[in-house]
Amino acid sequence: MTTPIETLEFQSEARQLLQLMIHSIYSNKDTFLRELVSNASDALDKLRLESYRDKDLGADTSDLHITLEADAAGRTLTVRDNGIGMTRDEVVALIGTIAKSGTADFLTKLKEAKDAAASQDLIGQFGVGFYASFMVADKVTLVTRKAGTGEGVRWESSGEGTYTIEPVEDAPQGTAVTLHLKPEDAEDHLYDYTSPAKIREIVKKYSDFITWPIRMQGEGEDAEVETVNSMKALWARSSSEVTEDEYHEFYKHVSHDWQDPLETIRLQAEGTFEYQALLFLPSHAPMDLFLRERKRGVQLYVKRVFIMDDCESLVPEYLRFVKGVVDAQDLSLNVSREILQQDRQIQLIRRRLVKKVLSTVKTMMTADAEKYATFWREFGRAVKEGLLDDFENREAILEISSFASTHDAEKPTSLRDYVSRMKEGQEHIYFMTGESRSAIENSPHMEAFRAKSYEVLVLTDPIDEMWVDGVGGFDGKQFQSIAKGQVDLESDEDKKATEVAREQQKKDFESLLTWMGTALGEDVKEVRLSSRLTTSPACIVGDTHDLTPTLEKMYRAMGQELPPIKRILELNPEHGLVTGLREAHASRPEDEGLAETAELLYGMALLAEGGELADPSRFIKLLAGRLEKTL
Ligand code: ADP
Ligand code: MG
Repeated sequence: MTTPIETLEFQSEARQLLQLMIHSIYSNKDTFLRELVSNASDALDKLRLESYRDKDLGADTSDLHITLEADAAGRTLTVRDNGIGMTRDEVVALIGTIAKSGTADFLTKLKEAKDAAASQDLIGQFGVGFYASFMVADKVTLVTRKAGTGEGVRWESSGEGTYTIEPVEDAPQGTAVTLHLKPEDAEDHLYDYTSPAKIREIVKKYSDFITWPIRMQGEGEDAEVETVNSMKALWARSSSEVTEDEYHEFYKHVSHDWQDPLETIRLQAEGTFEYQALLFLPSHAPMDLFLRERKRGVQLYVKRVFIMDDCESLVPEYLRFVKGVVDAQDLSLNVSREILQQDRQIQLIRRRLVKKVLSTVKTMMTADAEKYATFWREFGRAVKEGLLDDFENREAILEISSFASTHDAEKPTSLRDYVSRMKEGQEHIYFMTGESRSAIENSPHMEAFRAKSYEVLVLTDPIDEMWVDGVGGFDGKQFQSIAKGQVDLESDEDKKATEVAREQQKKDFESLLTWMGTALGEDVKEVRLSSRLTTSPACIVGDTHDLTPTLEKMYRAMGQELPPIKRILELNPEHGLVTGLREAHASRPEDEGLAETAELLYGMALLAEGGELADPSRFIKLLAGRLEKTL
């Protein structure tokens, strides 16, 4: 029987990515080796774990290692491991496609990228793993046999659209990736990946910390096989021994990110419960930060042995972007995710990690404002979810948060800074939520605050709507929406002076307000005079404890049943339209046109806050009628 060779097509995303790699616009080609070694190391981790869990696996775990085999004459380089390997279907699924979430998004952005530098930057953010091989090879052969199975698979491709796949009889356990190096790199010793010196240099630089031996045949007649990496787990070494570059390369291995991290965080606990943590804040958000199938980035080790990726018990959801490793000394090697969730020691580690991450960011705020700004731009939206979830650290999260504000259009402000700028006698932290900065800034609610130069936080993330009501306050000051409840910006002195005038105003308008309340009764629950308007005739505000319109929309979109929420119409007693309406109503209470004016006034207030009219064509008809009369 002849063994069939199948030719299959790459998934289209994979094809596009491969094109990029073949035309190698990424400047640092050496990184291909880091990716292959990283995969080999993962495969060894997986096999050790699997054979520990499944005693009948029948795999050989006696000498797990990685081998680099260079053939200068044949111009090939092979990266071999005796790890977990892949079945045929796994090869098709894992190598023939990219399953990474956010891929489509990444490719769209890449198409929009203006120049080579921008594309490079994007590739760095995305990370391409195995396909990095095609930066240096014009053909790649992969032979693999899944540990515990009998038959191997051979995969081969030049990266141009298709690959072949066929069974092989006598493949060793694990995976061997052979790169047929591009001829153009042969002359240039900078890129001679068959040179042992070059290979050694790359391994030292990118993969030294890999905890499995990386072996290579030495040069010369009777040279022996040597181990080219030091294999020291970085987190177990004292920080003075580890260079920043080493931390950065380790970060790239655990995160699959190609860019340096923003910050490295170390934590060590000795005593009865010993553990080490080496954590990183990335310098950019992953493509899947807000996708449903997103993962968390902390790996769990027990006594240097890799136990699991994406250990959700170690970091809360809102810190899912934190990457790194926790190595606990006293856990059992066969802990499961379920056990971890209950484990008291794990909960203690988690609490400490969270506090450490938050305090690191807090330090960053003053020590390196630019770095902090990057952090907040990339991860602020995720961090703010903690205001809903993590009651214990609420104050600390508020402390490291920044918000857009009317104080400075360019730069967000911390709450601490907001509080330091509060006016004499100001008791609240004022904010407004909305869909965009311009909608908020141009809303009538802002008028009196602007006129009296009170600073207002401009909250435009959907999540802001959710936390701001529940959080209460910061530093003893309550958050107060400028679009809700009554506002009172007058000082006590001003109040006295205007009290008499106010009383008079109330009397003057009483009959208008009562009448309008009835006329607009289907839409609003109250019509009252406003102290927040200077130039607009009217605005709509919510009752103190009512849902905001955005939240209402969100809940309805999620399919929640809500009773209709009526809001309050506030009139500006200084505005000509309002005073005119009052006079007209006093002299001709029966005039039916007045109800239409009231309706128009309400419609304008609705539009001014970015709301939608219930019946736009009616509004336009009424308005056109009025305009016509003015001509
Ligand atoms: P990533 O490592 O980020 O998942 P890669 O493109 O590097 O992406 O690899 C894709 C997948 O192929 C890996 O997740 C792994 O499942 C599989 N794979 C790659 N190399 C090996 C290997 N040497 N042994 C076993 N599986 C491998
Ligand atoms: Mg990889």
